[in-house]
Amino acid sequence: MARGDFVGVISIATRAWPRYLVPIMARINENFQKLKAGYLFPEIARRVNAYTDAEPEKAKRLIRCGIGDVTEPVPVAAREAMKKAVDELGDRGSFRGYGPEQGYPFLRESIAQNAYEGLGIEAGDIYVSDGSKCDSGNILDIFGQGNKIAVTDPVYPVYVDTNVMAGNTGEANEAGEYEGLIYLKCTAENGFVPAIPEEKVDLIYLCYPNNPTGTTATREQLEEWVAYALKNDAVILYDAAYEAFVQDDSIPRSIYEIEGAHKCAIEFRSFSKNGGFTGVRCAYTVIPETVTGSTGSGERVPLKDLWGRRHSTKFNGASYPVQRGAEAIYSEAGKAEVAELVKHYMTNAKLLREACEGLGLKVWGGENAPYVWVGCPEGVTSWGMFDKMLEGAQVVVTPGAGFGAAGEGFFRISAFNSRENVEEVCRRLSSMV
Ligand SMILES: *Cc1c(COP(=O)(O)O)cnc(C)c1O
Repeated sequence: MARGDFVGVISIATRAWPRYLVPIMARINENFQKLKAGYLFPEIARRVNAYTDAEPEKAKRLIRCGIGDVTEPVPVAAREAMKKAVDELGDRGSFRGYGPEQGYPFLRESIAQNAYEGLGIEAGDIYVSDGSKCDSGNILDIFGQGNKIAVTDPVYPVYVDTNVMAGNTGEANEAGEYEGLIYLKCTAENGFVPAIPEEKVDLIYLCYPNNPTGTTATREQLEEWVAYALKNDAVILYDAAYEAFVQDDSIPRSIYEIEGAHKCAIEFRSFSKNGGFTGVRCAYTVIPETVTGSTGSGERVPLKDLWGRRHSTKFNGASYPVQRGAEAIYSEAGKAEVAELVKHYMTNAKLLREACEGLGLKVWGGENAPYVWVGCPEGVTSWGMFDKMLEGAQVVVTPGAGFGAAGEGFFRISAFNSRENVEEVCRRLSSMV
């Protein structure tokens, strides 16, 4: 009997694939089916489209203050360095093919000297990549199953969704919280820096200056977190994507400013927000030699060995011109241009803060981060406020509830915009009173 006949007979008999044939099919990672449909940005788009259909004339005035993407051009210093590097690729003598997976020494050394001067971080602790979003997701490759994982609420959704995909959670409940994750509530009362958990956790995601709340953690608060991690043998995954926006020198820009962090913290940084590299793509992860995890039998293993192995197996290095562009961010000219960019966005943030305060709203963030986190008026929900701003001022904001249950009652305004747009948003807000 031919194989086809056999399968035909069976499928007529059972109307399904026989069990022993199932393994020849491509099985999916069913954890993906636990993911709540990407709700926030599609829902924003749906409401904006509905408004545009209903009010086409007014919709021409729409200003988007919702998305966390930069608006100002890439610094000249970085563009010139990238052009030069592209030309090098066009000459047999200076051509470069695959580079080191961890990044070129010129960039790793430049990062160690400029971003971590005096903090005990060496070029060899730095792993260059094409983005912090990927790094903060990919890091789960080096951790085993069964870890207790804590995230803040509200949260940058990448930390949560990558844990769902990796099978580290159960299903989501009504509030969108996944079983198995520990949510650390960030509220106005705690200044959006969560209390240290009572229980023992193994991995903790912290992001300061914070997206979405724009708030920062003080040195004392970070000292408490590091002490907790050391005591509980936990690893802190510290996202410092917004460090360049810190204006107050008493606020740490790196977790490695805290004593003991070299034993318990991994730091993610990116050129996306300081250098306007969201479309260029370059970032890095820092793992000092002394950060370890343990095997089931209790053996300590340096995490950097695992990450190095992962990087060289699954990644072939960031592009050479891009790494030259990133290096140029640390040149004298590059630093001056970055300072101007930061000043531009932080002035926007100040204007937006003042406009919201002028409306009588409570405001957080925006002083050391490019996001302003605003409390909705009494009795108005995040989405209610979103609609009010859309219909009343044609301004698109991001509802806080989209970042987690604890974001209800707040909305985020991004300072990533042109000055002209920000000034117009402020005028419109003042006429909304
Ligand atoms: C923008 C941002 C990053 C940077 O991501 P890239 O992939 O490097 O562009 C990282 N973390 C947070 C919280 C961000 O908002």
